[in-house]
Amino acid sequence: MVHDVIVVGAGMFGSAAAKYLGRAGADTLIVGPAEPQRLDAAVGLPDFGAHYDESRIARCLGWDRFWGTADTRSTARYRDIEAESGIGFFTECGSLALVSAAQGDRTEAMLRAAGDDGVAVERMPAAELRREFPALRAPSLTGGVEGLLERKDAGRLDPRRLVRAQLELALSSGARLVRGAVTSLHRQERTGHWKVRVQDDDGGFHAEAETVLLATGSLINHSDALPARHAVDLQVFTEPNLLFEVADDHLDRLRHLPTVVIIDPDDTGDGNLSAYLIPPLRYPDGKWYARIGPAMQPVVRELRTAEEIHSWYAQQRITKEQSAFLNRMAHLLLPGLEPVSVREACCVVDKTRTRYPYIGHLDADRTLSVVVGGNGHGARGSDEIGRLAATVVLDEPWDFPVPRGTLAPVPARPDDTCRAGYLQPPFGLC
Ligand SMILES: Cc1cc2nc3c(=O)[nH]c(=O)nc-3n(C[C@H](O)[C@H](O)[C@H](O)COP(=O)(O)OP(=O)(O)OC[C@H]3O[C@@H](n4cnc5c(N)ncnc54)[C@H](O)[C@@H]3O)c2cc1C
Repeated sequence: MVHDVIVVGAGMFGSAAAKYLGRAGADTLIVGPAEPQRLDAAVGLPDFGAHYDESRIARCLGWDRFWGTADTRSTARYRDIEAESGIGFFTECGSLALVSAAQGDRTEAMLRAAGDDGVAVERMPAAELRREFPALRAPSLTGGVEGLLERKDAGRLDPRRLVRAQLELALSSGARLVRGAVTSLHRQERTGHWKVRVQDDDGGFHAEAETVLLATGSLINHSDALPARHAVDLQVFTEPNLLFEVADDHLDRLRHLPTVVIIDPDDTGDGNLSAYLIPPLRYPDGKWYARIGPAMQPVVRELRTAEEIHSWYAQQRITKEQSAFLNRMAHLLLPGLEPVSVREACCVVDKTRTRYPYIGHLDADRTLSVVVGGNGHGARGSDEIGRLAATVVLDEPWDFPVPRGTLAPVPARPDDTCRAGYLQPPFGLC
């Protein structure tokens, strides 16, 4: 049989896109591996995903028009997705951005855009932050620190559960899901159909479709699913995390904090404070962990090859510098933390040349498309990003305030001397 669409990758973007494709009546096959039981060297590269965790920061305050709208539209649909799928994933605990008062113009622009989208953001000077969140210490940033607090429609989402919910909804719209990895993809000259080879637990099989949507995340250029001539300009970076197990007698003080991001634009080398904090939540082992990670700043490292990405994921060991930074931030933000234990976790984020997801066609006759490039914060807007991908695949009218061409995939450059400067100032998010 020939499907209308094969979606390669059953992660955050692929699952959302498959739901919208199914709802539009397209015969859709989704191919993607299930999450491995544990991450180690025995796991093949396509089996890693950026959504294997319990929490992602969700907020509507965007850094520009694209992200603000994608995040706001997606957030407005969270409760419907939960109700329709029967799977809860969103906790409305609020989101706090701690920004340097020295970046006043940028903050003003963000707040104006948020205001246009009807997003309520409270601007809090340092003294008010101390009063409202006594368990949290704001770091000192150039020009002073101020807080941007969203109490409503913001907090954290569980990315595993959101993917499960989207897949449920895709399946109930008639899509089919196969657990496996695509190991080759080519266009048949005679029929014009795409033929993909799927590797699964039973060995493998071929599937055919009129169009293919690649949603393989950070692995896009390192996946056999993408013909090399279509490689896109996307860089992959380490995303090291520390998880601090919180003792019972500290829980009440900490668990009601909002999620926190710190935006420190300064070039202070390893002294840069850009980071994020997810207050304690219960993990599958029954323990409560607070999680800390860096934003784009010097302790982050680029991973250039499939081998580097694989060994970073498989070892689940962060570098000494990353560990020192994250420990320092945890104790700075949460004085008196005294963790029962500390765990390391390694994941990756990707960055596109445009700083937007690539949502568009890769070939001239518009049968091979892509939706990749969460740029480190694609989870919260993933429902709208998946919807836009389905719009592109089905060639439906574009109904988004940013022109479709802005999201067009940028081809990889043959010489890699001209790389975008994500690890240079100004640091912080995007
Ligand atoms: C530690 C960490 C913290 C983050 N924090 C936030 C946050 O606070 N807020 C936020 O909004 N975002 C956050 N993000 C980013 C967010 O998780 C990603 O942007 C999002 O997961 C991207 O979705 P994706 O579908 O592109 O990729 P993924 O979710 O990685 O999905 C890609 C899928 O493709 C599959 N695949 C790859 N190759 C093949 C193949 N050949 N065949 C079949 N399947 C294949 C993979 O197995 C994977 O399941 C964070 C990311 C990390 C790692």
